[in-house]
Amino acid sequence: MRIGILGGTFNPLHLGHLSLAEAASGAHRLDRVLLVPAREPPHKPGLELAAAGDRMEIVERGVRGRSGLEACSVELDRPGPSYTVDTLEELGRRYPGAELMLLVGADAFADMGSWRDVSRIFDLARVIVVDRACHPLPRVPRLPGLSQDVITRCQRDRVAMEPVAVSSTGVRERIAAGRSISGLVPDSVAAYIEERGLYRGAC
Ligand code: ATP
Repeated sequence: MRIGILGGTFNPLHLGHLSLAEAASGAHRLDRVLLVPAREPPHKPGLELAAAGDRMEIVERGVRGRSGLEACSVELDRPGPSYTVDTLEELGRRYPGAELMLLVGADAFADMGSWRDVSRIFDLARVIVVDRACHPLPRVPRLPGLSQDVITRCQRDRVAMEPVAVSSTGVRERIAAGRSISGLVPDSVAAYIEERGLYRGAC
């Protein structure tokens, strides 16, 4: 079984996240893709985060009806900052024998040098870079302890996707400015954000 894992703050989930998951799923014939909201993203300190329960609900609503995509609360269920390496260890225990494929956008990938235990991440999962900007092959950053074989595989595994020009920051800014987010997030997500009055104050 091949399991894709897409971590993020999902603050909120938007159509770019879903396109990324679906592009990787199609290209690598994934059996399922888990969307994993971070409890405390180590790389975004001080971010105005919606409550974990709201972000989980948003992801659950956003994947509903999209075959193969699932919301996964593994990071919300444990205290403290959400390190990808811990998540992969846990998912490896939950799905023994499965091939774990960590899906990352090109910008997240470029930042991986600063992630905790990065070489262990590459031991635990195949890292699939999904390039939203359709740039040429993103360079594998110089990561401690990565062999040339791993780098070559990572370059070979890369997936191109049609760019979807949306970010969670942009969605939050629009809401705070009283503008519509229709077409940027699934309708069910827009309805939930509206119902709960999320992101009206700050970005
Ligand atoms: P923020 O604007 O709050 O920084 P974000 O929109 O970048 O958030 P994250 O939850 O941080 O969303 O991203 C999770 C993953 O989704 C990352 O791997 C990121 O590269 C990827 N991603 C985010 N936006 C897009 C997009 N429009 N198209 C493809 N991938 C995306």
